[in-house]
Amino acid sequence: MKVFILTGAGISAESGVKTFRDFDNGIWNGENLEDVCEKGCFEANPSLVYGFYENLKNMVVGCEPNDAHKIVADIQKKHEVMLVTQNIDNLHEKAGSTNVYHMHGSLFKGYCVSCGETFENYAFNSINCSECGENGSVRHDIVFFGEHPYHLDEMMDFIGACDFFVAIGTSGVVYPAAGLVEYAHAKGVKNRVFVNISKEDRSFYFNHSLIGKATDKLNDLYAMLEE
Ligand code: NAD
Repeated sequence: MKVFILTGAGISAESGVKTFRDFDNGIWNGENLEDVCEKGCFEANPSLVYGFYENLKNMVVGCEPNDAHKIVADIQKKHEVMLVTQNIDNLHEKAGSTNVYHMHGSLFKGYCVSCGETFENYAFNSINCSECGENGSVRHDIVFFGEHPYHLDEMMDFIGACDFFVAIGTSGVVYPAAGLVEYAHAKGVKNRVFVNISKEDRSFYFNHSLIGKATDKLNDLYAMLEE
């Protein structure tokens, strides 16, 4: 089977990583969202943004992947899978997944706002850029609101030819990720599976729903792919 899997914050919730939309007061981990998640926020207040993501990274480092991450890794071993996550944590990798496409970036990569260079597994011992020499220009490689997500073209190519489109633990309010199921529907992808702890209005374009905790429902998904 050719399977496109999109994961969101819900898959990491049971590992202890806070989701984002579950806070509707505009505050995430104690900060106003627009101060740490909007395009230009790093340039406006580098130490606040750096500190916020460094704290988040330190919190994530102490979290372990859960059964849902592990079942996704098992599915990858049995099927042709493109695994895309909106998450900036590394729990899919820790669960054994390979080729994880981080469409919104990663806490474990660096990005120079001056020259655009990216750095894998960046330790953040310095935020001066070793590539262009600019001081204080390296931030966590996170795609902020107003910036372009990564890998969109590859995703469209894969979705256009897949048998299953699966969205796990994502609220479907952050575009363009939220529009991918509409694209799958328009392209005639036969099976569009929604896995979420709550049934939401945005599930209109899906034709299968697995409602419950991701750790409970991914066994059903695994079985569905075997049928
Ligand atoms: P979101 O917070 O908007 O939505 C989370 C979704 O997960 C909700 O629909 C909720 O009903 C569902 N959910 C919660 N617990 C669940 C569980 N145990 N099992 C199944 N579903 C569950 O997250 P989003 O849609 O990914 O979009 C928000 C943005 O926030 C993303 O761009 C992401 O980069 C970022 N974010 C990332 C992390 C992370 O890296 N772990 C955490 C928070 C936010």
